[in-house]
Amino acid sequence: MNWNPNRSILLLAAVVVIGVSALLTMESRLTAVMQSDQASIGAGRYKPCNEPYSGVPSKLTGNRLLPASAPCAACLGVEGNRHNYPCQKHNIKNAGNSSHPYQGIEAGSNRWIRMACAEAHKSVAEGGGPFGAVIVQVDDATNQVIRYWRSRNQVTKSVDPTAHAEVTAVRMAAADLGVYNLGEIRRNDPQLRLPQTCETSHCEIYSSCEPCPMCYAAIRWARIDTLVFGATRFDAAVPGVDFSDLELYEELSTPYQDRHRFGLRVLQATTDNSLDAFNLWKNSDKVEY
Ligand SMILES: [Zn+2]
Repeated sequence: MNWNPNRSILLLAAVVVIGVSALLTMESRLTAVMQSDQASIGAGRYKPCNEPYSGVPSKLTGNRLLPASAPCAACLGVEGNRHNYPCQKHNIKNAGNSSHPYQGIEAGSNRWIRMACAEAHKSVAEGGGPFGAVIVQVDDATNQVIRYWRSRNQVTKSVDPTAHAEVTAVRMAAADLGVYNLGEIRRNDPQLRLPQTCETSHCEIYSSCEPCPMCYAAIRWARIDTLVFGATRFDAAVPGVDFSDLELYEELSTPYQDRHRFGLRVLQATTDNSLDAFNLWKNSDKVEY
């Protein structure tokens, strides 16, 4: 082949373009890595913290069963209050009978539960559902909050009926950290995506409201072992709020054959391949979680 100066110039130009683009890509990756732990909630969902963790709120003593609700005259007729529902001032702690499911777990407040409740309030102000959650990642050695995630109910925004605040928080924290187990995050875990100086850390969750059964299960599947919530399931069920889990709790404790009372038809099918996946799983090189 004869030497062609034009072809050589073109080849040289191509090499330069490829080299420059590779360098730019590398730099943008490096910048992303350097900035990864500085991500704000809006951009990267979590917020670095590094401040002492005061721990969960202190337990309250004595009988804290307060009146079911107290209408607040000041809230009636306020602009935006189109429905005139009474303003509730105290958590409802039972359904009007003697059972008191919160006996022994009633606690005071701290920054994190207030933050979760503030997220719920902001969510409503921005057209979302009235629920918020915060996950804090705590350094086991120094008891510092390494970072935290704030989340809101995203059901209407995402058109996702499972996008409750707690589920969304668990998804964000697990995805950002790169781990399934938020109860014990190990520095030497090769999957860990975010830096931590301590050997182990763990996450705790604060929810503006008592989690529904789905969120409760999500929290437990994530191996989170500390849950602090504010409003009760009874608060969520009052007229005007209308997010009642009460029937769901009852449904879960009802035999399957009777669940038609709740509008669910459920069947256990006998099919020759129902155990194939389990049998394969048992003997696979599996990623356990
Ligand atoms: Zn939920």
